[in-house]
Amino acid sequence: MTTVQVDTPGGSYPIHIGPGRLDHLAHSIPQDATAIAVVTNSTVAAHYAQRVQAALEQTGKRLMRIELPDGEAYKDWQTLNLIYDALLRNRLDRRAVLVALGGGVVGDICGFAAATYMRGIRFLQVPTTLLAQVDSSVGGKTAVNHPLGKNMIGAFYQPIGVEVDIDVLATLPQREVSAGLAEVIKYGLIIDADFFAWCEQNVAALRRLEPAALAHAIRRSCELKAQVVSQDERESGLRAILNFGHTFGHAIESGLGYGEWLHGEAVGCGMVQAAELSQACLGLDGASVERVRALVQAIGCPVQAPDLGTSRWIDLMQVDKKTEGGTLRFVLLPEIGRAVFQPAPEAALRAVLERAATH
Ligand code: NAD
Ligand code: MG
Repeated sequence: MTTVQVDTPGGSYPIHIGPGRLDHLAHSIPQDATAIAVVTNSTVAAHYAQRVQAALEQTGKRLMRIELPDGEAYKDWQTLNLIYDALLRNRLDRRAVLVALGGGVVGDICGFAAATYMRGIRFLQVPTTLLAQVDSSVGGKTAVNHPLGKNMIGAFYQPIGVEVDIDVLATLPQREVSAGLAEVIKYGLIIDADFFAWCEQNVAALRRLEPAALAHAIRRSCELKAQVVSQDERESGLRAILNFGHTFGHAIESGLGYGEWLHGEAVGCGMVQAAELSQACLGLDGASVERVRALVQAIGCPVQAPDLGTSRWIDLMQVDKKTEGGTLRFVLLPEIGRAVFQPAPEAALRAVLERAATH
């Protein structure tokens, strides 16, 4: 087991990473907790809820399970209310602890419930998708979707800990593994060239879910995210670099209709486009662009952007939260391992987008 420490103004907490973590959850529950509510979804519950509950019973505390329907469509206000209803009906008090057992959807909605129930109660993240283990469970962003926009209602609220059990990835669909790996290689591209090279060398082991490779990739990803978030918890500057590939990716997700491509798949493709834009704007060398393309392909994500039409592409990207005063800004790479956040000339952007149409 390895530990990564996260220190932010909003809270400090450990991320424990290793096999078999689900069986050790009792150690992460504070002594003074009055009750524990495991928030999960039907899919994850079928695999892991019994084991998690058996582990938590060792605390001797009152234990309940709140099982939500599975899917991004349920990361909404109505489902959030199901959590509040269950907590209130069972009279959980301010010293109760929530345990988010699931992927990013469960983590985000459970985190927001914890941030708001009785003005804030403690919660533990137990992420079960690779994406949640390397990204969404770390850093304290919590949210639900609004009919008019994704993640529009939320709070910055840090968990009291993150328990990453690498064994649970064995039941994750292969496409979800590839989507999670897109966020892993993103960290290498924006801040750690050596880690990017390590990913190139270990991509086959990662896709086979070899424990040593997985543990290293998750630990390094969490360290790098923790490093960025500790300097900029509320995304006033540096944290924006974590959105590398995401302006293109969000346009793909909304342009094709959410769910058509997984978020990580869209980000994978978006990172190839952002590398091309970096070549045009900052002189990123062609060999580096090809390394990005090759690794995105090797992890099993698409590298050919869908043909949405250039003007629709631009419209979709304008909606992105990174737009300020109508100018499109992008996270770009001067070289692999270093990122800057700046506006891109429209001509360069159009040239990249037109490639989506001509392939
Ligand atoms: P998800 O939570 O929908 O999980 C994907 C699918 O895998 C679901 O069907 C889920 O039930 C299933 N699943 C989860 N664990 C499993 C396991 N071990 N075995 C088998 N099936 C399993 O998707 P996700 O990619 O984990 O998260 C996406 C969400 O995360 C989005 O809502 C996004 O907005 C959010 N997000 C938040 C942050 C943040 O900083 N808070 C960052 C990135 C993404
Ligand atoms: Mg992302």
